[in-house]
Parts: sequence; C-alpha cells; structure tokens
Amino acid sequence: MNYIILDLEATCWKDRNHNKQNEIIEIGAVKIDGSGNIESEFAEFVKPKLHPILSDFCKELTTITQAEIDAADTFDKVISKFIDWIGIDQPYALGSWGFYDKTQFEKDCDLYQLDKGWLKNHISVKHQYAQITNLKKPVGMDRALKIENLTLEGTHHRGIDDARNIAKIFQAYFGKWEV
Ligand code: AMP
Ligand code: MG
Repeated sequence: MNYIILDLEATCWKDRNHNKQNEIIEIGAVKIDGSGNIESEFAEFVKPKLHPILSDFCKELTTITQAEIDAADTFDKVISKFIDWIGIDQPYALGSWGFYDKTQFEKDCDLYQLDKGWLKNHISVKHQYAQITNLKKPVGMDRALKIENLTLEGTHHRGIDDARNIAKIFQAYFGKWEV
C-alpha cells in the first residue's frame, strides 16, 4: 500500500461572506511506500476556471504569485498528471490534514465533471493523530509539529511544504494509521 500525503491551496478571499466558489490552485503531495519511506513528490500549480485572478489576500496567505498561476495548466490536465503519478492500479490511500482537501477535490472534480472514485480511500491525518496521541481534540498542523519536536520546514500554506510537513508526522506514527 502506498500513502499519498497531500495538501491543496485554493482561491480565497478576505471577506468570509463572499459567495465565490473556491478552486484548487496548488496540489502538493508526497508518496510514502509500504515501508514508510518517501518515494517521490508531486507539486503543480493549477489555473482556476471561475476566478483566475488571485485576490491580494490569497497571494499573501499562500505566497503563490499571479504569474505562477497564469503559467499553470487547468485542473483537468493537472489531475490527470496527478492520478498518473499516484499510480491508481496499485493499492493506495490518500492522507491530508482534515477533510477539507478531499472535499475541495470533490468540488473541482464536479466543476469539470470528472470521476471522483479515486478519492475513496482517505485518511484524515489530523483526526487520527489526535486519537493516536490521546489529544482532547484535533489540532492544527503547526501545533502537531511542535508537539512532535519537528520543524515546520518551508512556507506554511504552500501545498508542497504543508504536504512534506504532514508526511513527517505520518512517518513518525507509521503503522498506526487506519484506512
Ligand atoms: P492550508 O492547507 O491551511 O494552507 O489551507 C488551504 C486553503 O484553505 C488555502 O489555500 C485557502 O484557500 C484556505 N484558507 C486557509 N486558511 C485560510 C484563512 N485564514 N482564511 C481564508 N482562507 C483560508
Ligand atoms: Mg496548505
């Protein structure tokens, strides 16, 4: 079984009452093999369909630039590369910090009328981490890294860096995760 530890960034706005649909702008992921070793990484930006111009808030939060998004492929193209990279003919489970990433993938698949079957096996590393370590309630990734004495490497709110940091927590408790 391979474990695909992933993190998404998406379009966002400062005003929480906006009625715009969030779309994925970055997919970052780390593939961990059945022995707990990192096999490879996937990192791609995605050009959104509905709101292709990033808000200042979103650029500040993620450090992703408009030029990076302008140069990116659309979701349908990136997801096909991502699924190829996962290698869905072999057993795998997806893992992310909470359920947000899975839900966001479902929304973007719906937007492009793409199959969602590949999202089925999913682990919320955030919720299982709280169970495994007997925390009263789930905590943020930054808090979990502190508890584990692990450094938050790279830039928080960048998909590939968040995925690498979640992968470190996943590796620290390898064998304890339930699919
Ligand atoms: P994260 O994986 O924590 O970097 O967050 C994933 C996505 O959630 C971001 O790319 C944003 O679209 C959204 N998000 C995260 N934090 C915030 C926030 N404080 N306000 C608005 N949107 C956010
Ligand atoms: Mg992130």
